[in-house]
Amino acid sequence: MTVLEKLREYANTDRVALINRDETLKYSELDRFSDIFALYLTERYPGDKTPVVIYGHKETLILPCIYGSLKAGRAYVPVDITVPEERVQQIIDDVSPKVFVDFYELNIETDAEVITQQKLKDFFAGNTELNVNVEDNCVKEDDLAYILFTSGSTGKPKGVPITCANIENLSRELMPWMETSEDGGVILNQISYSFDVSVVSLYMGVSRGMTLYTIDKDIQENMGELFNHLESSDCAIWVSTPSFAEICVPSARFNQSLLPKLEKFLFCGEILTHNLVDELFSRFPNTKVINTYGPTEATVLVTAVEVTKEMADDPLQIPIGYPLPEVTFRIVDVDGKSVPSGEQGELLIISDNVGPGYFKRPDLTEKAFFVDSETGKRGYHTGDICFERDGLYYYCGRMDNQIKIHGHRVEIEDIENNLAKCDNIVRAAVLPVYENEKITHLTAFVLLQKPDGLTSLKRAMKIKEELRETLPSYMIPRKILALDSFPLNTNGKVDKKELQKSL
Ligand code: AMP
Repeated sequence: MTVLEKLREYANTDRVALINRDETLKYSELDRFSDIFALYLTERYPGDKTPVVIYGHKETLILPCIYGSLKAGRAYVPVDITVPEERVQQIIDDVSPKVFVDFYELNIETDAEVITQQKLKDFFAGNTELNVNVEDNCVKEDDLAYILFTSGSTGKPKGVPITCANIENLSRELMPWMETSEDGGVILNQISYSFDVSVVSLYMGVSRGMTLYTIDKDIQENMGELFNHLESSDCAIWVSTPSFAEICVPSARFNQSLLPKLEKFLFCGEILTHNLVDELFSRFPNTKVINTYGPTEATVLVTAVEVTKEMADDPLQIPIGYPLPEVTFRIVDVDGKSVPSGEQGELLIISDNVGPGYFKRPDLTEKAFFVDSETGKRGYHTGDICFERDGLYYYCGRMDNQIKIHGHRVEIEDIENNLAKCDNIVRAAVLPVYENEKITHLTAFVLLQKPDGLTSLKRAMKIKEELRETLPSYMIPRKILALDSFPLNTNGKVDKKELQKSL
């Protein structure tokens, strides 16, 4: 696997792989620690290939666990601390790991060996030179490299596995977009490892011998600290969702003098708005803005485009880009027929970057994935409504109830199903509230089983408290309103258009 070969290569240099607040990890340390972790897995569990679940956030020692799992031929399953314990339990039950690396010592029921942060420190404290045989043992071709769990419409997270071959393809195609004027340099490491855009730093950044500069959740929540970190980062490539850059925009400090070496903004994961592009063009005259698009199911991203002044001035939305060289797009109508250029339809991705399907969910896989009869390559129904003009693609919205809120992918039904499980609630409907092309928050309407005598405020607080047990905070509706009855449409389903009027 290219990233592991490169890791070994840079281990012979003085380069720094990771900066995490006051901690640094050199490539030589990352290589050695990941060898130790790989050796532990292969010796303790010979012949086993069960994925390793890693629960944490941006801890320095997560990196050796990721590359160590890959070196030992195991996929890793990163689960961020924003995921509540009950959902972590669901993931553990789904994966049935042999090894669970738990940085926060949760109360999880599992037969897996639990490895704490302290145990990892003990592992890595030894000074032995190991040199694990990476080539023979590491993940290869169709072996899974990682599984990411994303919001599922049933109310439980669903796993999206990605193979080694998928990542190798992406690396080949994305590398030209990662070029910078200096060898090495710094790349932002802000995105949670459980969100696939982090793959750009973890694989492409490391393959280029870059330094991953970590911006954790606590830093992001303190604007002063965030800007101090950005200032000292020396960052050359910024990788994030547009939402993270939008958090920075209100500060006048967010400009080229804060990040003088910044050559590229690489965005992915949600709509890139004209507002943000205009701000970045005026504040960062020396930095390119690159928009990319892609679903987790097709390995992070499948398009790229450098946003030009003409695109910024065009009233059309900012394009999501051109398909990467080995990616084929087809836009089809409801009958699956290709539509003419300029017409909207569902975007199908046909490419070797398309993953094998959902983890242990053949039913869902069959619905969304296919094999293209023309090319024999794997295909994926994105559910995204797009159109093409002059080879460029534009995103117009979703065919289903999947949304992006502050960069996070969420199935509305996931929230509704978990709301309906709350005490005294029989039915729930959740609506996204938009401002300037983007969702700012969610509002939920609920039908109570019996009157509860609570004020709206107290009831909403009680329900939110309950929801926190099952949902990450970004999925919790800001407003929760009880209704006496729900408006129904002719199919007898909740009429969301009617509800929309009461927002
Ligand atoms: P995820 O699997 O979390 O990366 O989410 C994938 C979905 O995010 C896509 O199917 C789109 O709906 C949306 N998305 C990703 N990138 C973009 C983009 N550049 N512009 C608009 N929507 C995007």
